[in-house]
Amino acid sequence: MLNAHPLLSLLKAPLIGIGTASVVYAIAARAGGMKPRARIALAGLAGTVAAIGGWRVFLVSLHIYFPHVRDAIPLAARLESFSFMTGGAFIALFITLFLTRNSRNMALASSTIAAGASCMVFAAVSGIAEPFTLAYELSRVIITMLAGGLLAAAGIRLANREDGFRILSIPALGFSLVVPIFGALSAILPFADWVTATRQQNAFALHPLQLVFVSELVVMLAFALAGAGVDRQNALRVASENTRLRELTDNMFEALLIHRKGVIVDINQVCSQLLGWPAEVLVGSPIDRFLPGLATADWSDAERPHAAETIIMTAGGETIPVETLSRMISFGGSKAQVTALRDIRSRRAAEEKIRFLAHHDALTKLPNRLMLQDALAREIAAIRAGGLGLAIFYIDLDRFKSVNDTLGHQIGDKLLQMAVARILSNIRDIDLLCRIGGDEFVLLQPRVEHPDIAGSLAARLNHAISQPYDIDGHAVNIGASIGIALGPQDGTEAEMLIGKADVALYRAKADGRNRHYFFRPGMDTVLRRRRVLEQELSAAIEHEDLTICYQPVVTADHELVGFEALLRWTSPTCGSISPDEFIPIAEETGLIVRLGAWVLDAACRQATSWGGRYWVAVNVSPRQLTEEDFPRLTAETMARAGLAAHLLELEVTEGVALHDNAQALNALAALKHLGLRISLDDFGTGYSGLSSLHHYPFDKVKIDRSFIARIADGDRARAIVAAVLAMSRQLGLTVTAEGIETATEFTVVRDSGCDLMQGNFLSPPICDNDLDLYIEARECRDAAHA
Ligand code: C2E
Ligand code: MG
Ligand code: MG
Repeated sequence: MLNAHPLLSLLKAPLIGIGTASVVYAIAARAGGMKPRARIALAGLAGTVAAIGGWRVFLVSLHIYFPHVRDAIPLAARLESFSFMTGGAFIALFITLFLTRNSRNMALASSTIAAGASCMVFAAVSGIAEPFTLAYELSRVIITMLAGGLLAAAGIRLANREDGFRILSIPALGFSLVVPIFGALSAILPFADWVTATRQQNAFALHPLQLVFVSELVVMLAFALAGAGVDRQNALRVASENTRLRELTDNMFEALLIHRKGVIVDINQVCSQLLGWPAEVLVGSPIDRFLPGLATADWSDAERPHAAETIIMTAGGETIPVETLSRMISFGGSKAQVTALRDIRSRRAAEEKIRFLAHHDALTKLPNRLMLQDALAREIAAIRAGGLGLAIFYIDLDRFKSVNDTLGHQIGDKLLQMAVARILSNIRDIDLLCRIGGDEFVLLQPRVEHPDIAGSLAARLNHAISQPYDIDGHAVNIGASIGIALGPQDGTEAEMLIGKADVALYRAKADGRNRHYFFRPGMDTVLRRRRVLEQELSAAIEHEDLTICYQPVVTADHELVGFEALLRWTSPTCGSISPDEFIPIAEETGLIVRLGAWVLDAACRQATSWGGRYWVAVNVSPRQLTEEDFPRLTAETMARAGLAAHLLELEVTEGVALHDNAQALNALAALKHLGLRISLDDFGTGYSGLSSLHHYPFDKVKIDRSFIARIADGDRARAIVAAVLAMSRQLGLTVTAEGIETATEFTVVRDSGCDLMQGNFLSPPICDNDLDLYIEARECRDAAHA
């Protein structure tokens, strides 16, 4: 019977119950990862707390129901009832912490708590009621015990959850204490009825404790049966799930392993094959024995699939790189980690190959520019840290292109490989040779104490590469031009060093090949200007932006007999450029062929306009002479312009190209055959000498202006002019003196017996409209003289 009490004292019991539950929960939660002994100690502690809490709930509840009897509980009854509560709580906690967490065990644990609480109530109240027998309503006892058991079950289940609902286990467990205690007390009839209660219809004559035990037995049996049923269902479901999973995973190509808390719980066949161990060995073993990298990962975060790369250790002691994909699954009713392993050896090999190809040249197997940049960056860093200097060699094979063109790519490839082998045999292990273009290589020579070390290596390379090659029966000769830049002297930027080595290489090539040059300041301005001119000249030729001036040629008697056509060009960025500068550029780039054809055409037309009174001399580059169809082209040009052959003269300089060049000689013969004249230009410079006059079919010799400039100074130059004249006379050649700048030069040359004169003293080259005016004025004067 419930007395009227303030709300606060009514709330006391549940508050104590919840407080007790939260302390028990906190203690039990810590027990999870502990050793068995520590767990027993904690279970005991938690059980004691639960018992004290339960006892307190009971005392509060007793005070509510029977305000005057609290102190009347005899000691024996107190001990008895307290031990019921302690026993119940301890058994429940033991089951929860030590036994498998299946439904049956959970049902047992929860019903033990409820039963312990109920028994505590009856043991205590029976003690008070002695010698009377308690009168109570059995149905109420059973219902509240069941309710308490269900609350305890819910509390345990909630405590096992991983999510936020877990916290609800505390009130549930708290009420699982309060409800059976309240229920038991409320089932007890008032004291006045105790004596007579046994005779009441809805009351039993049994001792309440006996009755509670019986009903507890029934409840426990019911819980256990229900729990076992649920467990069986679960077991069947898990078994079928496992079978399905196994069938699925065994048929997969990927190795799968399921592990929980660092221990392997299942694997598929592929995994067993991959690791080289039978399933019996693997299952139950710690995973880090086979996947050392995986075990150290933080699996608690692995809610989402987690990919990684690690290694596995096989039974044969082999280490295999694998790719892993892990995720959490529910396996056998609780969470586990499933990890898929993929052997990535072949992928790694392919990646390695791709990496090699990306960093190496396929033909020579040499590192490429990418690796050079890496290595160079490292060496530069070493220099900055106070290390020794370095040298960058830019190597370009001379005449490689012509070998490739004439003997074919196969021979060209072999030649490259042989040349590379020769370079490699001359360098140290720490030197790095890279192929960065067709026949271009960059050699990085680190730790260079003195430039001489680089210089002597370059000389050795020049020598080694220029030795003859025997390739499939072909005797091949090439050379190497080498440009060298030094770090830190020439810079400590990779690109800058390579660029400067390139500039030095360019100069080495320009100065006659098979040589090596160190970079010098100023080399690059020349190169830059040259690159600009190259581009602009090409555009100028395309758009016919060049002009031709004509320099008069006169006889000793001042009679105008012809003109020399001389090209003029103004570059958009560099201004007026001398032919001495742009003609070599046109020759090297091959532009001279088109340019020469254009000059020839324009000059022939110009000469035609003079109506046969004056001839025209056109300068022809040796490169043009080696063009197979040059004689034919000249004939066609003359024909197109309507110019008679005797009015055209071609000026050639005897250079390397003419020397021993059968094609050039044939061309000269063919041109002569057309009826035009050939003159040897710039006589007295470079390669030409008196002996040349015998060898080639020249009609004329033009003594170079550098010679004429010295003529006034001394007898030696005059003697040479006299010798040239004498020789020429003998050979029937006409002699022209070029570059006459002064009256003295004119007089000396004329007195020596030169046939023709040309020079600024007589007239500088004349351009455009001035030419017509010049001719007109001259003809007027001649007419007047006549
Ligand atoms: P070159 O054939 O020996 O031409 C004569 C050069 O001497 C011309 O120089 C001319 O302007 C210069 N000259 C004439 N009189 C004097 C003088 O009194 N004093 C001085 N200092 N120089 C004088 P330019 O026009 O600069 O031509 C230089 C060279 O460029 C030519 O030498 C020729 O080899 C080449 N060249 C010019 N035009 C052509 C062309 O259309 N085709 C080819 N292949 N070469 C050309
Ligand atoms: Mg000339
Ligand atoms: Mg000349």
